Amino acid sequence: MKISDILQKEKIGLSCELFPPKTGSQLGNVKEVVKEMAQLKPSYMSITYGASGGTSEYTVNIADEIQNTNHIPALAHLTCVSSTREKVHDVIRQLKESKIDNILALRGDIPSETDFPLPEQYRYASELIYDIKSMGDFCIGGACYPEGHPESGSIREDLVYLKEKVDAGCDFLTTQMFFDNNIYYNFMYKLLQKNITVPVVAGIMPVTNAVQIKRIIALSGNMLPARFQAIVERFADEPAAMRQAGIACATEQIIDLIANGVNHVHIYTMNRPDVAGEIFGNLSEIFIRK
Ligand code: FAD
Repeated sequence: MKISDILQKEKIGLSCELFPPKTGSQLGNVKEVVKEMAQLKPSYMSITYGASGGTSEYTVNIADEIQNTNHIPALAHLTCVSSTREKVHDVIRQLKESKIDNILALRGDIPSETDFPLPEQYRYASELIYDIKSMGDFCIGGACYPEGHPESGSIREDLVYLKEKVDAGCDFLTTQMFFDNNIYYNFMYKLLQKNITVPVVAGIMPVTNAVQIKRIIALSGNMLPARFQAIVERFADEPAAMRQAGIACATEQIIDLIANGVNHVHIYTMNRPDVAGEIFGNLSEIFIRK
């Protein structure tokens, strides 16, 4: 089922993100995570793709497991900047064979020069979108950045390219995580001004681990509101308390979004069905799936 149809039909929907294993020996564990997560009945489940080849090998395999074994629509991420067209086309063909309708088309982060030489066949996600469109009737998603992409000179410049990307054929967008809902509301206003009207799924990261959040903030350049900062500082050395506070904050953030008319939230669940389960449980009367 296409995510564009799900976003149109569902009143309120929650989706989850997983990452694939790095090695074949971990495949069984991740499939177990998929099974547990599927029992929560998310609207769809997305599976990431390692830009530098690290975890890309198993993305199609896990997408297939999500959709064809667990019967939840799968969204397969696909990055292009580190790949050749041949490799990218091969993955698209595999997805088609597995009847995966949904692809999140991404450029991927540019690896440092010392990692490996880039094939330089793709520069931006919009080029990947053209290729996907030429290869089948896929529903295509794109990434967007309420606080601006870290490489962009300004949010204004980022929005010019976002508009180009959407016009290339995005059916929906998913946001980078944000911790202050006002940033998202403000961003939605800017999208309207740019005449970007595709559905925008809000990406929420439950912060259950102080080390993880410091790394993410450093990489993404995201703003951590003072309220969150205090929680991370207070509970950094108390893992159980940090986990509980993180789940409470993510729940509260999602309730505020839904109360303000946002109908679709994507949770960066980081292969933690326990965390996802508690958040879904906290929202059980708000998010009802038969
Ligand atoms: P693009 O849309 O191509 O944008 C990249 C930069 O180039 C931006 O600064 C943009 O403003 C600029 N730009 C775009 N077009 C042009 C143009 N024509 N001329 C000049 N500048 C331009 N990474 C992974 O490796 N694997 C994943 O599975 C993954 N999943 C993600 C899921 C989500 C929801 C998000 C938000 C990010 C994800 N990422 C993933 C990270 C993503 O790959 C990086 O943020 C990457 O740096 C940018 O990817 P993009 O698709 O947004 O790039």
